[in-house]
Amino acid sequence: MTEIKKTYCRICPGFCAVDVTIEDGRAVDVRGDRNDPVTRGYTCIKGVQNTDLLYGQGRFRQSMRRDASGALAPVELDDALDQIAARLKAIVDQHGPRAVGIFLGTQAWFSAVNAPAATAFAAALDTPCLFGTMTIDQSAKWVASERIGVFNGGPQRFDQADVWMLIGTNPLVSVMGGPSTSGFGHTNPTKTLRDARVRGMKLIVIDPRRTETALQADLFLQPRPGEDAALLAGIVHVVLREKWYDQAFCDRHVDGIAQLRAALAPFTPEAAARRADVNADDIVAAARIFAQQGRRGMAGSGTGPNMGPHSNIAEHLVQCLNVLCGRYLREGDEVPNPGVLQPFVARHADVSPPKRSWLTGPRSRRLGLGRIFGQMMSAELADEILLEGSGQIKALICLGGNPAVALPDQAKAIAALGALELLVTIDPRLSATAKLADYVIAPTLAFERHDHTGFLEAMFQQPYARYATPVVAAPAGSQLIDDWKFFWEIARRMGGPMQLGNLVCSAAPAPSTEEVLAAIALGSRVPLDEVRAQPAGAIFDAGKIFVQPPRPEWTDKLELAAADVLDEIAAVAATLEQASAPGLLLTVRRVREFVNSGLTDAAKSRARIPDNPAFLHPDDFAQLGLTDGEKVAVVSATGRVTAIARCDPTLRRGMVSVTHCWGAGSDDEHQIPESTSRLVASDTGYQSINGMPIMTAIPVEVLRLG
Ligand code: SF4
Repeated sequence: MTEIKKTYCRICPGFCAVDVTIEDGRAVDVRGDRNDPVTRGYTCIKGVQNTDLLYGQGRFRQSMRRDASGALAPVELDDALDQIAARLKAIVDQHGPRAVGIFLGTQAWFSAVNAPAATAFAAALDTPCLFGTMTIDQSAKWVASERIGVFNGGPQRFDQADVWMLIGTNPLVSVMGGPSTSGFGHTNPTKTLRDARVRGMKLIVIDPRRTETALQADLFLQPRPGEDAALLAGIVHVVLREKWYDQAFCDRHVDGIAQLRAALAPFTPEAAARRADVNADDIVAAARIFAQQGRRGMAGSGTGPNMGPHSNIAEHLVQCLNVLCGRYLREGDEVPNPGVLQPFVARHADVSPPKRSWLTGPRSRRLGLGRIFGQMMSAELADEILLEGSGQIKALICLGGNPAVALPDQAKAIAALGALELLVTIDPRLSATAKLADYVIAPTLAFERHDHTGFLEAMFQQPYARYATPVVAAPAGSQLIDDWKFFWEIARRMGGPMQLGNLVCSAAPAPSTEEVLAAIALGSRVPLDEVRAQPAGAIFDAGKIFVQPPRPEWTDKLELAAADVLDEIAAVAATLEQASAPGLLLTVRRVREFVNSGLTDAAKSRARIPDNPAFLHPDDFAQLGLTDGEKVAVVSATGRVTAIARCDPTLRRGMVSVTHCWGAGSDDEHQIPESTSRLVASDTGYQSINGMPIMTAIPVEVLRLG
């Protein structure tokens, strides 16, 4: 029997609505749902391979345990849970709760219950050692918002924007970026951008690579990699010098403009242009188009500025553009997405002050870094494992991630993972991390379980929500567990007070996934039953919501020029007259076929991109005497990777562009592909607050291997 079932893809946060063809109980085809009001039929090559994820080679149908011979062997799920709980309890009894760490990978966030369950487990255990991929990705956004503060009206909306600026992000490929960043992530990106261009929106793109998104730009700046901070400082300098900012908004809501102006004085368009190797007139044009010609629309960034040198100040300057130009919803503006499955929170045209949450609470033992949004900094994870003494991590549980290829300085990361007393990963396949693990817990996959969009719904431009029921059953004879339930079952065995919504873990059997999804949606703006009644997803317009007047007692202002911010600007200014180092810079990119290390084993993706090439400009190719397809070594001060060299005229000269976090683990050294994390240093060049390493714009050599 053949039938079509509707659900949504959860491989990335695009959450594309899809029609799944089911034949005799098996999913055989996945297509975009053209009737969906948000993603409008969009899918990518990853999404259509949900069938490969379900039925392709190598999927664990049962959990695995490393046996005495060192090999992974099947283990009954209940036995694995009993043993893991007993070993964790022994570690906690001997070393304290801080000896247990949890690593949340990118995939952990694409289910409504998985990351919340892991976080609740950490809270129940009373361990502060919760790590995530955000702090080795774009945590400069967290730092910027906690140093500046937040305007509570919320970001301006893309569908009414007359200008948008994108720095180091390629949402036509990544489909990422919420309303305040790319503006058209989490939609049908092609159609949403096309609609904006038709209504006349100006697009400014800054990227060292002429990306798919850059091809759509009215103004494209192609700077030297790693110079985003200097370039952005030049743009903000012009906005301040020409007084193109929103004076009334700034008078009422912003502090530090005079200090910021003084700090940015050295960044004349000419000086910034020399440093970034762009045209000074283009810096002025970018400032004019964004701040003067445009009236509505935001500046947003991606991994480029957030992973490069001076990442925290680069992101701060992106947000300075939004603050100075007052690019927020104001009193009386309609709120485009007031939420559906989250409790309603009124928006007011006032400011939440800077939080600087890293100044209080537990700190890392090596660099003394605090936590942000409840997370320790992932660049510290390997050292938290390797550094002996009180607080040393002895056990690590990984959910939805692959730290063996994602953490900086892969050699150190793998040594750290190998030094653990207990490494558990919840993983459907034998990832690089699973190869090192003591236990690999086999999970259900998205199409086999209940879920809803509540956790990430703020990413949507509209009040969109949907509830997914399983479209296929788990494979016959398999012994799988929903990821969240692993944490509940371990807490139950350890006697921990874990809580999800109003459900409290006890000796009683675990609740169902449906019950947990309902519990975490309690108090939602729209009752969950209404969302469940629309299985194809819908926009829930429960009346128009408008930004409210400022609350009289909320008198805080957005802070643009705190002392540490000024110090970081001075550090960038000190580079202005320095000669740029000669040689090549490694930059990282995204491709449609993979999400970080995810999907790198999927058949169609690998058929398109069988290895992880190192792309260079044709002139660099000629200078190095390379031929397309030859094997090269890319060597940094930290490590080396082997790659296939490919020619790419979309790059500027001096770049080696490689997809990041895709590659082999420890036992596959020097087999193609290898992860760029081998090239990333964890002990030099990191940022002071979040320990963010330099993960792009890394000086490298390219050596022919013959
Ligand atoms: S962009 Fe691709 S991977 Fe992401 S949700 Fe859509 S179909 Fe899935």
